[in-house]
Amino acid sequence: MSAQAHDAGTTGLDRETIDAPLFAPDAFRLSDEQAALTAKVRAFGKRVVAPRAAFHDREATFPIENFRDMHGEGLLRLCISKDEGGLGADFQTYCLAAAELGRYCGATALSWNMHVCSTLWSGPLADELEMTPADRAAHRARRSVHYQRIVNDGAVYAQPFSEGGAAAAGAIAFGTEARPVAGGFIVNGKKIFASLSGAADYYGVLCTERAEGEAASRRNTLYLAVPANAEGVSVVGDWDPLGMRGTVSRTLLFKDVFVPEDAMLMPHGVYFQAASRWPHMFITLSPTYMGLAQAAYDFTVGYLRGELPGMPPVKRRMFPTKQIAVAEMRIMLEQTKALWFQAITEARANPSREQVLRAYAAQHTVMENANAIAVKAIRTCGGQAMLKSLPLERIYRDSRCGALMLPWTAEICVDRIGREALYEPGEKDD
Ligand SMILES: Cc1cc2nc3c(=O)[nH]c(=O)nc-3n(C[C@H](O)[C@H](O)[C@H](O)COP(=O)(O)OP(=O)(O)OC[C@H]3O[C@@H](n4cnc5c(N)ncnc54)[C@H](O)[C@@H]3O)c2cc1C
Repeated sequence: MSAQAHDAGTTGLDRETIDAPLFAPDAFRLSDEQAALTAKVRAFGKRVVAPRAAFHDREATFPIENFRDMHGEGLLRLCISKDEGGLGADFQTYCLAAAELGRYCGATALSWNMHVCSTLWSGPLADELEMTPADRAAHRARRSVHYQRIVNDGAVYAQPFSEGGAAAAGAIAFGTEARPVAGGFIVNGKKIFASLSGAADYYGVLCTERAEGEAASRRNTLYLAVPANAEGVSVVGDWDPLGMRGTVSRTLLFKDVFVPEDAMLMPHGVYFQAASRWPHMFITLSPTYMGLAQAAYDFTVGYLRGELPGMPPVKRRMFPTKQIAVAEMRIMLEQTKALWFQAITEARANPSREQVLRAYAAQHTVMENANAIAVKAIRTCGGQAMLKSLPLERIYRDSRCGALMLPWTAEICVDRIGREALYEPGEKDD
């Protein structure tokens, strides 16, 4: 049975109510273009993506039809510049749009993030980093090839960097290696938790460029678009997790995979520069969870008002305990939105230390509060609200995954804030 047919009637909340913007354009001073793009994604999320979400969650299948439809809507090329045929959205606009999508299907929004980052990192971010004129010219020519695949053919990119060791947290060099050979590289290694595995057309693999006899170094991190159908690429293992089931994040193996030089999504050394000079690049996993936080709150208000389609119109809002719970959820939601909006607004190259600390705090706050709001939503709405015929229990399970997302897990954010707030760079205790 198809996702559409199976889920008809189970997600009436998403289809029938009119949702207000997560960030009202006048209140948050969005440009007309931002207001239009976020409205477009919100409408798309509600009309197209939400009705399919429960099916893919239950079956742990990848919602590839969402990506085909996103291609039709122009959303796969959101952050590609207009002169390359894209919509030209900047970092903040992307984050706002992704948060809107997260309200309707966390797994689709999180997977969309992996795709969009391949264009955001190689595009607006790379443009703010240092390169020689020759490197910049070569980079522009190479990325243009990738962008045309997305613009013209709807190619979908994944972003596997996790390996199960300390590399994804940025502590050591990636174990997946690219050995330079004539005309390109030979890639060997393994990536775990690769969202879109088996569905993406290209895997944007972070690996260590290492010639024979050379020591592995994080400075030599290479960002390569490996075609999914290249010889030596395989997807292994199963995928049956607690939440974010539609991301289908299985394990990727690369065995002597040849990729040509034009597979480079960033020139030599530029990813290392990006990770240190453009740290907000890692906050892009949070918009999905910002959307989930809003969705848990919206569900609760609709449920207590007796307005959920498909549910008896029983009102539960008159009990003081429910009112207090909604007030507490609203306060948490407003705190989360305010901090997160500030952090995505000040994302740039070479942020100040204050801005970096705020970015960690925003990431931590979104990831922890999305789940805390969902927990409170279940407790407040009660037993009937956690049935699988309604989206809240999925929101609850999906939101639990946010704090685990490397490289800025909730624990790592706490670790860095504490250290970097108490020590100047290079400072040590005697
Ligand atoms: C739904 C989902 C989708 C994902 N999709 C992708 C994807 O598309 N691409 C991708 O690359 N990855 C993806 N990930 C992977 C994710 O970022 C983690 O790498 C993954 O959860 C594996 O974690 P682990 O248990 O091996 O983490 P470990 O590295 O073992 O870390 C476990 C915990 O220890 C703590 N920790 C680790 N290192 C440090 C440190 N240096 N300092 C302090 N604390 C530390 C962290 O809190 C971390 O949560 C996804 C994960 C999920 C849940």
